[in-house]
Amino acid sequence: MIETDLAFTASPVEPFSWRGLDFFVKRDDLIDSRFSGNKFRKLYSLFKLKKESVKRVVSYGGAQSNAMLSIAYLAAMKGWEFDYYVKSIPTWLENDPTGNLKRALELGMRLHQLGTEEFYDSIESIRSQSLDGDLFIPQGGADPVAIEGVRILASEILEWADGKGLESFCVATPSGTGTTALYLRKSLPENIKVVTTPVVGDEKILRAQWHKLEPDLTIYPDILFMFGKHQFAKPHPAFLQIWNSLKDSGIEFDLVYAPKMWYELEKSYDRLPKPILYLHSGGVSGNVSQLQNYAFRGIGIQ
Ligand SMILES: *Cc1c(COP(=O)(O)O)cnc(C)c1O
Repeated sequence: MIETDLAFTASPVEPFSWRGLDFFVKRDDLIDSRFSGNKFRKLYSLFKLKKESVKRVVSYGGAQSNAMLSIAYLAAMKGWEFDYYVKSIPTWLENDPTGNLKRALELGMRLHQLGTEEFYDSIESIRSQSLDGDLFIPQGGADPVAIEGVRILASEILEWADGKGLESFCVATPSGTGTTALYLRKSLPENIKVVTTPVVGDEKILRAQWHKLEPDLTIYPDILFMFGKHQFAKPHPAFLQIWNSLKDSGIEFDLVYAPKMWYELEKSYDRLPKPILYLHSGGVSGNVSQLQNYAFRGIGIQ
């Protein structure tokens, strides 16, 4: 049985000390355990759709995606069908799904594999054949529908800052599609700095994605990119170490996006405006499968 009511209250902000540095963390991970924090924000406007207005949701992306699982919960809550397309996945995963994929399949998601070469062409033809009652959500929820929920997030941040009498400060969040960082930038006044780091691809890809969604903003988020380019979700000893030390400091973050952002924040701490508010976007449900990837590559937890 899927609970269909959601509590729309502001997520809490907590002080957080890590490696001798002071931060605040906005706990969007605590909004609702079913939804990865920023996916909840990005899908927010879809929660308000009437059940009858949609029959089927169609989306695509990674087989362990946080967006995928959040959409699966949304679809299950609404009684919508959900078709999800991935590039071909390994047989072991197909035979014995783990993590987010396992849960999404249990929620009724229909998984389809497409050839890797023609993946995006196939997606385009699936999109163009959408029927009445189909709701098409681009990879990672990178869509203008996301702005409504992110705007509410921005207003919660401003309210928090107001309560503390803060004039200028810094908001940090790692980017996949960059949608969250972009719409935060768009929704917050210019005296607040928005920093991010690309976890998928590099600066160029991130900027291209921003220009696609918002071709003419006056300011875009600031990019921190000391770590350099790294293959998405590929285990790295430094990330595991950061993830562990964050956990030891009291908060479990996701193991795919968060460590790279924290790496950048540690490196750039002195030159960023304070305080720094880190947006915890959830994704902790994916840690099981990501820890398996680390173990598989022989990168252990000390
Ligand atoms: C999806 C996700 C992101 C990236 O969000 P975008 O809006 O795609 O940039 C960052 N952190 C976590 C934990 C996520 O699940």
